[in-house]
Amino acid sequence: MSVSPVEKSPYPHLLSPLRVGQQVLRNRVVMGSMHTRLEYGENAVSRQAAFFGARAAGGVALIITGGVAPNWEGRIEEQALTLEREDQLDEHRPVVDAVHGYDGKILLQILHTGAYAKHGDIVGISDIQSPINSRAPRPLTAAEIEATIEDFVRCSALAVQAGYDGVEFMGSEGYFLNQCVVTRMNNRTDEWGGSLQKRIRIPVEIVRRTRARIGPQPIISYRMSATDLVEGGQTGGEIDTLARALEAAGADMLSLGVGWHESVVPTIAYMAPRGAFIFAASRLKAVVRIPVVGSNRINMPQVAEEILGRGEVDLVSLARPLLADPCFVNKSAAGRAAEINTCIACNQACLDYIFVGKTATCLVNPRACRETQFPLTPGKVSRRIAVVGAGPAGLSVAVIAALRGHRVTLYEARGEIGGEINLALRIPGKTEFGEMLRYYRTQLELHRVDVRLNTAVSAEQLLRDKYDAVVVATGTLPRTPDIPGIDHPSTVSYLDVLTGRVDVGRRVAIIGTGGIGYDVACFLTAPRDVPDTIDAYLDTWGVDPTIAIPGGIRAPTVHTAPRAVTMFQRSAERPGERLGKSTGWIHRIELRRRGVKAFAGCTYRRIDDEGLHYSIEGRDQLMAVDHVVICAGQEPNGAIASKLAQAGCEVHLIGGARMAGELDAVRATEEGFRLAYEF
Ligand code: NAP
Ligand code: SF4
Repeated sequence: MSVSPVEKSPYPHLLSPLRVGQQVLRNRVVMGSMHTRLEYGENAVSRQAAFFGARAAGGVALIITGGVAPNWEGRIEEQALTLEREDQLDEHRPVVDAVHGYDGKILLQILHTGAYAKHGDIVGISDIQSPINSRAPRPLTAAEIEATIEDFVRCSALAVQAGYDGVEFMGSEGYFLNQCVVTRMNNRTDEWGGSLQKRIRIPVEIVRRTRARIGPQPIISYRMSATDLVEGGQTGGEIDTLARALEAAGADMLSLGVGWHESVVPTIAYMAPRGAFIFAASRLKAVVRIPVVGSNRINMPQVAEEILGRGEVDLVSLARPLLADPCFVNKSAAGRAAEINTCIACNQACLDYIFVGKTATCLVNPRACRETQFPLTPGKVSRRIAVVGAGPAGLSVAVIAALRGHRVTLYEARGEIGGEINLALRIPGKTEFGEMLRYYRTQLELHRVDVRLNTAVSAEQLLRDKYDAVVVATGTLPRTPDIPGIDHPSTVSYLDVLTGRVDVGRRVAIIGTGGIGYDVACFLTAPRDVPDTIDAYLDTWGVDPTIAIPGGIRAPTVHTAPRAVTMFQRSAERPGERLGKSTGWIHRIELRRRGVKAFAGCTYRRIDDEGLHYSIEGRDQLMAVDHVVICAGQEPNGAIASKLAQAGCEVHLIGGARMAGELDAVRATEEGFRLAYEF
């Protein structure tokens, strides 16, 4: 008996086709809906077509678009798109065609934001204000609810007319349809509120009437909340009832989301273990017969394969992992998983960009959402390029320049690539950063970059070797603040701590509350004897996996920290204010629970045998500590560049070596990437 290529592959479940409604998907990978802001600005349609087309070309079976509102009030923000009229269809057809051109399928996600909307016409199922919105909604009248249902149906029919393979209704993450079904947001007493049957009527009517309008062929996916993770959310029983009702009303597929936007449980950031929330989706597989889609922190094919192989869900939804690597599926199918550019769940260039009004991209793949700006073309002439420093900036420029046909030599003074990524790896919860190193190692080999480790190359050597261009990506050095007693034996740098060079005592002061200060505090207070398991994670964050309690949350388990840590900063702003929006809150909560205190507005007096002397609000204070850890930022370390430039060499300074302030891995990687496109 012959064995099919799919059965032979390491991912037989992931790569096997599946019937959904009346259509067949070529494998089990769904690209989940994401806000990217690609729909705004010049050439929005062609940029979206290139973005989605690249993902379809990379093998994904089914793509869900970013959310499009069914009516004016449902928009997420002022300029967000609606689909209400036939004259808007031309904005969609090129996108659909691009995906179909690569045999992919695509659903339009229809998203009504309700009480989350950030514009003046905000409406809700009732007048209850969302805790993350400064505006309260105007409650819809019963007649307006009927009109809203019709808007969803009309939008679905228009989507099918535009060529989409169907639609997905967004009923998760706390958006309007999710708001309708919970007493937390729905206090109506008419036929749309009160009992569970009345609360779920809107989603059920939308699915039922849409099916009647568009017929049996287009896929109807319903994105429902598998657990709300907020007080007053649904119980497991209520979720089951909604799932059954949606199936009976004509849904072909349930795509399961986790947690509302205001939930204080981290569900997508790097500290959440891979597949941590599949338990919530897999409950529903036993409840309905239609396919269920699991999501959240599935970022490598092996993780997906194991979940699918255990029969926990029928399909997996990957969103950010496909920003990071559009060819995730094809690389998996070709047995080249080591070449996958893995999403490390940092949120730094996707969600954090969206929050400040920028178009999303990706820390590990700066081409994401800029496919038309950076086509994969070779350089005009192949040049000999030396890159000095194998941190994020150096790795990025070396790999992309080599990919574009240049001959690259990469010098690194240490015995390993990665620079500060190696420090990040030591922080509890940041092991995902190791995937960056694996990816770069594979790429350096694949594109034949000549890597010279343990080589502190000199300017003289570089000049002798007559490179066409030299890129200086030598990073930063820790800043030494001007505090009396800075050389006291109790004073150590974050490098000493994270590399294990010092045995840090039980009482610690940290000077500096930037990303590194928070990382060091997290490292020093990480509870011992807590296993690195999904169960322990859920327990620590107060998740009830049985969802017996409404919302599926309970009191978190607080673990004792092994050290007493206090953080200090000179500025008056709230400590941790400048951390990334989508992860900063997690660090602040985590450290507060571990008893870490943070003081703003401090003046440092001196460090001596008694400890750290400082003043705050004009009063002198002393904190007796075993160690003072300096996390006071960095200075550029790019001295070699001026020597090269003086000798007439073409030299480019990037990353921390160019400017240490506001450096993070996003800027470092991006500067390397952009420079590689200039060669
Ligand atoms: P940073 O974010 O610039 O923070 C430096 C800290 O040191 C600030 O709290 C600053 O507060 C203090 N400081 C600056 N100059 C000082 C001086 N002369 N004396 C005493 N204190 C001084 O730098 P970082 O923490 O080293 O991080 C470097 C980069 O890596 C940042 O861009 C950061 O975003 C990124 N990173 C991010 C993360 C993360 O988001 N999880 C983790 C690691 C690194 P005052 O000036 O108020 O005293
Ligand atoms: Fe993933 Fe970070 Fe890229 Fe976002 S920016 S897609 S979280 S690697």
